[in-house]
Amino acid sequence: MLDAEAFLAAALEDAERAMTSCASCGSDKISEVMARQDVPFGGKGETFSVQVPIIKCEACESSFTDHRAEKIRKDAIYDHLGLLRPAEVKGIRLALGMTRKDFDAAYGLPSASMERWENGRIIQNKSMDTLLRALSNPVTAHRLDRRQDPVDGGSVVQGRFSALEAKPNGLSDARSRAQSFHLRAVG
Ligand SMILES: [Zn+2]
Repeated sequence: MLDAEAFLAAALEDAERAMTSCASCGSDKISEVMARQDVPFGGKGETFSVQVPIIKCEACESSFTDHRAEKIRKDAIYDHLGLLRPAEVKGIRLALGMTRKDFDAAYGLPSASMERWENGRIIQNKSMDTLLRALSNPVTAHRLDRRQDPVDGGSVVQGRFSALEAKPNGLSDARSRAQSFHLRAVG
């Protein structure tokens, strides 16, 4: 089953989940400002900064960030590394109308890996990122598909052709049927 609907529902839910009251005292006297925040990165003390919404409470003077800031920080890491964001990875698969199982059969990308990349639990490496980018082009995606395509691969077409050849007048009958259909369709 294709999970495009679940994907959209999650995105909508995420947008509606913005905070309306203070996380520590529960007051609804909160306001929001955009501010720079340092994001630690790579484990070597490296940081970069991003703009995130910071929520301030007038009642208890605490300030905090919510899931939106978390998403901005995470996306910024992908941008910093020059890699597709999790939603983009998922988008490429869904644009091809494929389930994770299809993706595995077509491109040898295991469902479990795709699932982790799509949910941002693990960051795909550069070579996998390159393959995924190539698959964002539907023509390339079709060419790289390892599943047998019975129509383009010729097996079904060829099978029908030999069946017609085997019948007396099979081919000429098929040709005249095709022609009268064509004439009807045009006329
Ligand atoms: Zn408060």
